[in-house]
Amino acid sequence: MLRVILSLALCWLPLFAIEHIEHYEVFVKQYQENNTFFLVSRRLKLSGVTFYLTTNTQTLQTKVLSLDASKLMPLDENFAKTPFAKQLSDATSLHVKGGATHATTQNDKAIYLTMDLCPSQKKGYESEFIEHLTKQNGKTPIAIAISSAWKEHHEKEFETLLHNPLLEITWVNHTHTHFYDRNLPDRENFMLHVNTNVKSEILGVEKKLLEVGITPSVFFRFPGLIADEKLMRELRETYFLIPLGANAWVAKNEPIKTGSFILIHGNKNEPQGIEMLEKKLPEVLKTYRFKPIQEAFVQ
Ligand SMILES: [Zn+2]
Repeated sequence: MLRVILSLALCWLPLFAIEHIEHYEVFVKQYQENNTFFLVSRRLKLSGVTFYLTTNTQTLQTKVLSLDASKLMPLDENFAKTPFAKQLSDATSLHVKGGATHATTQNDKAIYLTMDLCPSQKKGYESEFIEHLTKQNGKTPIAIAISSAWKEHHEKEFETLLHNPLLEITWVNHTHTHFYDRNLPDRENFMLHVNTNVKSEILGVEKKLLEVGITPSVFFRFPGLIADEKLMRELRETYFLIPLGANAWVAKNEPIKTGSFILIHGNKNEPQGIEMLEKKLPEVLKTYRFKPIQEAFVQ
């Protein structure tokens, strides 16, 4: 039986692509394997079997696994000493720009591309840009911040992105509804809106991704990059997600430098940013290399 369960876990994508998750909840423990600490941050039930969302605290890679529950321990000082805990603590210490805005590692010439998929009435996505990017750069690591509200109305576009062999995608939590009201000031808008249900905003999109076989990453992007101390504390102490800000929001003309988190919108709501990056791309690629977002935090 154990072998059957383990092999199911290894085939997360094809087997569970049309499954419905019965239970999904925050569940925080740690366990050790080959001298590495793993964080368990969620628990889910599928066809009566319990699985866990786990994070390797050295590499920041996540996996959905079936685990022996008796090996799961409460977090202790060993967790606090891990690279993941340190990066989580640093990235959530300032709320002003919505989290980490650039790499903390010293990867020579590395830059990090992030693309937001906020809800949008527009059909399609920036497919031409993605085509030009991968034509020039080959297989490209990209962190895609996705909201359930975008995915719900763009299933075809989502599938195309997911199956693009030239993209190496890290899926970033960009909340379930991504609330925004153009008439409200920032301090009452996005996740700071009085009716925000933080739990359903964060778990909702993770569940949607898991149901199509995608493992959510440890990264989170605040809608509008708008946060406060309380939300940062919740990311750190309850949800264990590293918030990604940006220091190179292309449409705002912020320059790309070594270690930059580049921000563009893939939902067609900010075509000027796409145009500007497309123009800069040949020059950027002479100097820099796109790297997976995990490498911005751990070597
Ligand atoms: Zn957004």
